[in-house]
Amino acid sequence: MSHPGMCCREFVEFLSAYIDGDLPDDVRKDFEKHWIDCPPCLDYLESFRATIRMTHELGRCEETLPAAEVPRKLIDAILEARRRCKDGPR
Ligand SMILES: [Zn+2]
Repeated sequence: MSHPGMCCREFVEFLSAYIDGDLPDDVRKDFEKHWIDCPPCLDYLESFRATIRMTHELGRCEETLPAAEVPRKLIDAILEARRRCKDGPR
């Protein structure tokens, strides 16, 4: 299975699997390569992680969807990055 570079849409889709450690090695390597060239995705990953950590520390329900708590600004950054993605549908 080959992954010739990951686009932002895939990055977002793989994010929770990555956090859970569920990504196969080859996918994880592409995932980690992606954010080197894509600061918005790195920001997104970091705030996603921080949100999960916070959620756990507060002892909240683990089912809480972190995406719902990501600041609007970061979501806009991701949408902007997706628009630039060559592999995207548009
Ligand atoms: Zn990206």
